[in-house]
Amino acid sequence: MTVAICPGSFDPPTNGHLNIIERGTQIFDRLIVAVAVNASKAPVFSADDRVAILREIFANKPNVTIDAFEGLMVEYARQHNVHVILRGIRNLSDYEYESQLALANKAMSPGLETIFLMAEGRYAHISSSIIKDVVRYSGKAAEMIHPIVEQRLREKLRS
Ligand code: ADP
Repeated sequence: MTVAICPGSFDPPTNGHLNIIERGTQIFDRLIVAVAVNASKAPVFSADDRVAILREIFANKPNVTIDAFEGLMVEYARQHNVHVILRGIRNLSDYEYESQLALANKAMSPGLETIFLMAEGRYAHISSSIIKDVVRYSGKAAEMIHPIVEQRLREKLRS
């Protein structure tokens, strides 16, 4: 059985993330979506909230598991005996960051491979930080985020 971990901040998850996860399920038998507790210093959503949102979205996908992790990804992968990390790439700046991260992870854990999926064109402009501004200032976010994410984000940013 092929298993991969798809790690990230997911603060909040966007349609770009969901697309990478869904395409990952076509490649791997099981995907563990791992929400990084500490990746962002001041996240809008707690890790528990991000896990709950993702669980709701993927409730009908038995081969997707949502979890949270703290600390190094390589340690999390080691603990779960997983040898593949799945990440997405939108543009050159993602490439620069992602290649550095993949090389650092490889140096720490030589048996761990990072596999990249190119963002689909219609999602390549979407980022969690842009989404927060779009929703904060009442822009049109429907094509960028799942309705569950939009509802939670509106509640959060208005409270
Ligand atoms: P991190 O803080 O670890 O970079 P993110 O939640 O921002 O976490 O992103 C997780 C992964 O998803 C990264 O590999 C990132 O490049 C990828 N990603 C983010 N947005 C998109 C998108 N719109 N399309 C495809 N991949 C994306």
